[in-house]
Amino acid sequence: MKQYDVKCPICGHVNHNLYLEETDGWMECEKCGSMTKSKQFGNTIRIPVFRMEEHCRPAKAHV
Ligand SMILES: [Zn+2]
Repeated sequence: MKQYDVKCPICGHVNHNLYLEETDGWMECEKCGSMTKSKQFGNTIRIPVFRMEEHCRPAKAHV
């Protein structure tokens, strides 16, 4: 389960280690208590999956 750091758009407080995948992007700010849906979830924080088998061939030395 991935954890996210989300800045509250209401008060600017950064909430750490949120499980946004469980809440579908919603978080409750621990400082001001506002319920907000994170815009960055599902948008910017997507880890690209590399196809390792194409990149892990041993490099050949050109001698
Ligand atoms: Zn807040």
